[in-house]
Amino acid sequence: MPLTNFPKPTIVISKCIGFDPCRYNGGMVQDKFVARLKPHIEVISVCPEVEIGLGIPRAPVRIICSGDELKLIQPSSGLDLSESMRGFTSGFLDTLEKVDGFILKNRSPSCGFTDVKFYSGPERGPAIGRTAGLFGGAVLQKFGDLAVEDEGRLKNLSIREHFLEILEAFRRGRTPLCSAASILRSWIIRFKSKYLREQTFFSPFPEELMTLDDSGGSRT
Ligand code: SF4
Repeated sequence: MPLTNFPKPTIVISKCIGFDPCRYNGGMVQDKFVARLKPHIEVISVCPEVEIGLGIPRAPVRIICSGDELKLIQPSSGLDLSESMRGFTSGFLDTLEKVDGFILKNRSPSCGFTDVKFYSGPERGPAIGRTAGLFGGAVLQKFGDLAVEDEGRLKNLSIREHFLEILEAFRRGRTPLCSAASILRSWIIRFKSKYLREQTFFSPFPEELMTLDDSGGSRT
């Protein structure tokens, strides 16, 4: 079990994934993979919405498109939280001295790093597109070469394997033969490029030779 034989990697995790009932509705998400990973990692848990002063429970926030800009707003109060979220995010990410990866809450307008709905305005209506949350997007921009995933995508076995593989490579401070290909492959999976994913360059040797552990609970 490689993850237990070496110093523990440090992972930033959205606090509502099993650490604190800090969701807008006072709830918490239970995730089997994160629960299994916990003993093997050092955790930095964070809830950006609570950090910028929103309470628990709180009215939901959403991303709206305003001109060329995406804003984080709270429709019920009319508050524009964009600046405070961006301020907190850059301060928080700048203080991270040693971090090996991130597990973020999917679809959250704050933590999600992909597949987050955005709207034309605060009024009720259908989403007009998908983007990254303000916190999650900044994580991807600053730490995109690390293991960055969300708990929803990590239910997929192959995504989970790549997450662990990249985490392992960075954690051990080495550059394994497969490191560059692994990073490229994780981006291909992240951005759903089927054509590139099928290229043999990204499978230079049999999968069973990869130093991976399947710590996930279910194969999806
Ligand atoms: S998704 Fe992020 S901002 Fe929302 S409750 Fe979870 S940790 Fe907090």
